[in-house]
Amino acid sequence: MNQASALSLEIPPDSQRQFGPCECCGNMTSRVWGYIWQNGFPIAAYFVEWTEGHPHREANFDFIYGRWGDETSAKDRQAIAVAYRCLETGPSFMVIDANDRTVGKNSLAGKAVTREQVLNGELRGITFSLCDAIYLSDPRIATLRP
Ligand SMILES: [Zn+2]
Repeated sequence: MNQASALSLEIPPDSQRQFGPCECCGNMTSRVWGYIWQNGFPIAAYFVEWTEGHPHREANFDFIYGRWGDETSAKDRQAIAVAYRCLETGPSFMVIDANDRTVGKNSLAGKAVTREQVLNGELRGITFSLCDAIYLSDPRIATLRP
């Protein structure tokens, strides 16, 4: 079964911010966020952050992944972090240590996972599917695509 095909995005109103200016270039940094649903349930909150004009259109894709809803708590969810770059060969997603990102300290996530924990465990497939779903379907990040 194609996991990504079952994913859909929820983009809440007012889920986009600009802040800055960036210390390195003076451009503003953009952050958008939303939720990813699978088979009728929310499975992740996501945040994408980038600064116009940075090399390789680099961006951070951060997730709080797991079970959501009334019967759940932060212990049911974990923070996952991915670094995006648009290279000559195409878009590239690299899992990074979520402890190094703000999302790793988000109170909605019970723990932050490292690159090794994602790549060597059951999160690997879903992490790249989450990235794909956003990359393909969130119109707000059009500037990150080639
Ligand atoms: Zn900059």
